[in-house]
Amino acid sequence: MNKGLAQLALAVIIGILIVPAPAFSAGAVDKKPNIKILATGGGIAGSLQGNSNTKFTAANLTIDALLDKIPELKKIANISGEQIVNIPSQAMTNEVWLRLAQRINKLLKSSNVDGIVITHGTDTIEETAYFLNLVIKSKKPVILTGATRPYNHLSPDGPSNLFDAVALASSPEAIAKGVMVVMNGKILGARGVTKVNTYGTDGLQARDTGLFGYLYGGKPYFFQASIRRHTYRSEFDTEKLNRIPRVDIIYGHADSTEDAVNAAVATGAKGIILAGVGNGNTHPRTLQALIRARKKGVQVVRSTRTGNGLVTRGAEVDDDKYQFIVADNLSPQKARILLLMAMTESDKTSRIQKIFQDY
Ligand code: ASP
Repeated sequence: MNKGLAQLALAVIIGILIVPAPAFSAGAVDKKPNIKILATGGGIAGSLQGNSNTKFTAANLTIDALLDKIPELKKIANISGEQIVNIPSQAMTNEVWLRLAQRINKLLKSSNVDGIVITHGTDTIEETAYFLNLVIKSKKPVILTGATRPYNHLSPDGPSNLFDAVALASSPEAIAKGVMVVMNGKILGARGVTKVNTYGTDGLQARDTGLFGYLYGGKPYFFQASIRRHTYRSEFDTEKLNRIPRVDIIYGHADSTEDAVNAAVATGAKGIILAGVGNGNTHPRTLQALIRARKKGVQVVRSTRTGNGLVTRGAEVDDDKYQFIVADNLSPQKARILLLMAMTESDKTSRIQKIFQDY
């Protein structure tokens, strides 16, 4: 080969290597993915009150008004917004979750939708993410994001978080990894993500299980994903479900009584999550109340308030004898969600315990 030809061949090879990867729905390089943005409210749709820098109202901007403020989104994807609800996420309910899940499952069946982004308040974003992780029947990306600073803050975090979420939902690398949450340039799996700071922009983390990866310049850099069952490999189905059973969380502390457990049972809880001290322990008085609750048919799951570590079967509490379930390393708020879905499948303690090891 002469020198000129060799240089040409090299230039062609380099050209092939630096052409960007196409959007996953597209045969042609310039075809953008179709991303649906479902809005639920939260701080990302909130605004500061008057001249105050500290008081804000969540959920007072519609999704269309929010999208108008971030024209960059249209450069990376064909986006359309849909308002599901407009609430602060502390007002989230099981009923809204069911509606959201049924809508997402319907949308993802369409070949015109490549991925979903959900805007959400950060207070309970981890719960909605985990619920959807259990009930969405698709490999397509479902990404939640929020903001701790309202849009008219001096330095709002919503626009960049939303941009990152749309970029991730558009990425082929996000397929089949389960529901994820994006915030402050971090990718977090639905099972591990939790809010660890009351208002900081880096307030979402994944203690025990760690980050899935980072987003930088609109590109994901993954280093892990969850091996637990989720989305397309999950057995849970919301299609025929109109009501979810009530499950309450009882917080453990020194000198706790039996009153909270008794009140939960008397007012209709079908399951109780103990956010126990240490390895899911509790004061003997509270334990006796839980044993009585279980005898009445209420499912009891022992979890921990510590934020890290497994709750282990039979360590200081005889779970086999009392027919209790242990929460693995799920936080109390995630254990609540798994128990309420598990109870739609079975009332056998051994079966529910297996579910806690699988999801
Ligand atoms: N309370 C707000 C919410 O969760 C806070 C936020 O979004 O950061 O809706």
